[in-house]
Amino acid sequence: MSELIRTDASELGQLIASGQASSVEVTRAHFERIAQVDDDVHAFLALTEDAALAQAARVDERIAAGEKLGPLAGVPIAVKDLLCYTQAPTTASSRILEGWVPPYNSTVVNRLIDAGLVILGKTNLDEFAMGSSTETSAYGPTHNPWDLSRIPGGSGGGSAAALAAFMAPLAIGTDTGGSIRQPAAVTGTVGVKPTYGGVSRYGIIAMASSLDQCGPDARNVLDAALLHEVIAGYDPRDSTSINVPVPGVVEAARRADVKGLRIGVVKELGGEGYAPGVEKRVGEAIDALVAAGAELVEVSCPHFEQALAAYYLIMPAEVSSNLARYDGMRYGLRAGDDGTNSVENVMRLTRGKGFGTEAKRRIILGTYALSAGYYDAFYGSAQKMRTLIARDFAAAFEVCDVLVSPATPTTAFKIGEKVDDPLAMYKSDLCTIPANLAGIAAGSVPCGLADEDGLPVGFQVMAPALADDRIYLVAAALEHALEAKWGAPLWSRIPELSVSDKTSDKGDK
Ligand code: GLN
Repeated sequence: MSELIRTDASELGQLIASGQASSVEVTRAHFERIAQVDDDVHAFLALTEDAALAQAARVDERIAAGEKLGPLAGVPIAVKDLLCYTQAPTTASSRILEGWVPPYNSTVVNRLIDAGLVILGKTNLDEFAMGSSTETSAYGPTHNPWDLSRIPGGSGGGSAAALAAFMAPLAIGTDTGGSIRQPAAVTGTVGVKPTYGGVSRYGIIAMASSLDQCGPDARNVLDAALLHEVIAGYDPRDSTSINVPVPGVVEAARRADVKGLRIGVVKELGGEGYAPGVEKRVGEAIDALVAAGAELVEVSCPHFEQALAAYYLIMPAEVSSNLARYDGMRYGLRAGDDGTNSVENVMRLTRGKGFGTEAKRRIILGTYALSAGYYDAFYGSAQKMRTLIARDFAAAFEVCDVLVSPATPTTAFKIGEKVDDPLAMYKSDLCTIPANLAGIAAGSVPCGLADEDGLPVGFQVMAPALADDRIYLVAAALEHALEAKWGAPLWSRIPELSVSDKTSDKGDK
């Protein structure tokens, strides 16, 4: 197996910039790995090999010509299939968009290309990013490389699994209620949801527009920070994009110093329903940060207990409005258009056939929550609760610099275990949803393996809006402390996947 697939993105960037490796060679090594293991993992929905190799060759030529490119130039990346990219279909893992090739790129994709990154393909997700396991994907679930019988989290399970199976050193995710952080937690990778408005949403298929945020996935904190810097920053095409300088995330990841930093432990995010193995590792992570010089503060955020309920009114309300555009008229699937059906019937048949159960459930719930007579009781009260949650954060950030908690109450569960129990599935996001409701920044970094099942545990760090750098500061400090203790990064313990030999005669020359 090529060592290139286990090399950090920051190091790959240096190897490519210094001519010790070519981007084409690095890219080929990753496609070879994908061909060997993705039948079992199913992280990718589409590969963009031609465009990738062309981009890689372009980067190699520019470097050979003496051009100075960014730190990730020539490095491969996997992109969640929720971002428009003209070189492949963008399906959002839904039948209703099967085969739809967007006519333009999302801003994030353009920024990746401009920075010289090489897009390998589009990764699997829960349909329209609705779920915590990738099981609602119309194209079948993704498997967790730590244990193929388990979920890789969701909705961005494909991106997280691609990292954990060494099919890509970097990936792009989106997070509406936890879809970057929860998959990162259960696959032992790093994922950050930037401050709302920090990364452009232009060209990203909308789930719940007031909550959606795009962010970086990586196997280590510095790589995530380098990617964050590439994709973040003002975009006039997104009306909620914030026009302020990008926080110094790379500098913070390199500094990794928490001396004197006040760390607040959220009392409400723990206890009943949390796996003992998760709580134990999170407790040890807090101890490690204290040993590194951080100060501990216990804080209470009493309204977090209502966060799930508020989210499951606000999010479906926005979903019902955003998904109304999939009517079979403009793009994607059209069913029943045989001359015998009215326009209304074609719409009905298209939606009936094109949307999966979870999407339908949320459209119906959201429509109900917004309907006249129920609006104040449901959507209105949820919005009030959202304000109270934001106030809990504001009060907490008066007395501490960051808040910490488990990223998710349990480790990766079995594929099939919760798929018929939506409420159990929704509880996967108990710890991650408050940050989306308040629009603040939050990330998950690995903090070890749970004793009971040997599976990865994620440590969540939350920071005030526009203080995304603090997440990287704390996450990097923790990463260094734990790696010193373990003697190697957590990902080095990912089991070997059995490798199919169908590409062995292709080589990577
Ligand atoms: N799991 C959550 C949900 O199902 C969050 C999804 C997301 O962040 N896109 O809504």
